[in-house]
Amino acid sequence: MRVHNFSAGPAVLPEPVLAQAQAEMLDWEGAGMSVMEMSHRGREFGQIIAEAEADLRTLLDIPAGYRVLFLQGGASLQFSAIPLNLMRRGGAPDYVVTGEWSAKALGEAQRYGPVNVAASTAGGAHDHVPPLARWRLDPAAAYLHYCSNETVHGVEFHWIPETGAVPLVADMSSHLLSGPLDVSRFGLIYAGAQKNIGPAGLVIVIVRDDLLGGASPLCPGLLDYRLNAAAGSMPNTPATYSIYIAGLVFKWLLAGGGLAAIDQLNDEKARLLYSFIDESTLYTNPVARADRSRMNVPFMLRRAGLDEAFLAGAGERGLVQLRGHRSLGGMRASIYNAMPIEGVRALIDYMRDFQTLHA
Ligand code: PMP
Repeated sequence: MRVHNFSAGPAVLPEPVLAQAQAEMLDWEGAGMSVMEMSHRGREFGQIIAEAEADLRTLLDIPAGYRVLFLQGGASLQFSAIPLNLMRRGGAPDYVVTGEWSAKALGEAQRYGPVNVAASTAGGAHDHVPPLARWRLDPAAAYLHYCSNETVHGVEFHWIPETGAVPLVADMSSHLLSGPLDVSRFGLIYAGAQKNIGPAGLVIVIVRDDLLGGASPLCPGLLDYRLNAAAGSMPNTPATYSIYIAGLVFKWLLAGGGLAAIDQLNDEKARLLYSFIDESTLYTNPVARADRSRMNVPFMLRRAGLDEAFLAGAGERGLVQLRGHRSLGGMRASIYNAMPIEGVRALIDYMRDFQTLHA
């Protein structure tokens, strides 16, 4: 029996994708071997990565003039790659801190040079997005970095910051592909795969051509975007199996109507869960309504001492990985693209029953 998996990542994958991977495990399209066993330089894998890139370009309508890179090291290694590649392009970069992940990105960038904190909710509870009018932006900054969906705090940007000529760099690890996106507004987008895209071990970078080159002389070759682009994401062996599964996820999204269709479904799932939480007597979500994440929904129980009972009862109904992040406590339901609406309904039914039991 498959459970409803609310993990923040590695997270639920679409069942048809897993079934196809299973069917192709021993013999991929007549190659007589698994994708895991193929040379990354061979014709078969060449086709897999080319299709994955083409399908991602179709899904996101990525304009010409952007490179798509399939890299390793997770989103966290991009916290280093970004300053190492882009810092020398202008003045100290601007960083916006709205939660755990943008704070980590800032901390890493500070190892390489001066950084300007343009806005931060670090003094508070990371429960909102500060309005753009209050950001201290530097028009000469090398770039502006922010995290457009904070996986731990459940804070999502539902708008794109206007930074003029300063390249906009966004960590979209936990919501890329959750809906349509105007890629042309960004200099660089990156996302670890293990939430909304595929298995761990893969990070996707979408970078504008003019940001290639100019890396610090100390930038490791494997982190240099120009070298990675020139080598077609293969200066060394890439995460071949993760790329293959990500490619199947892209095909699954396309077959389901693309990002406009998944956007509607994500809206509906989030609306159901947040309205139940807001109307309930037992549960609360701390995030400002306009900035709530559609993907990661943290919630607390108002009565102390019930967390373990809540989690145990949920497990009995096949609702798993609901424990909140260790820094926040409480619960968190991650409801990525691959979480069916039935999973959200089953969670709400359980939450309602648990509330009645403990009224
Ligand atoms: N950024 C965000 C928004 C994340 O959610 C995560 C992982 N939870 C990371 C970065 C770090 O990703 P990784 O573990 O792939 O380095």
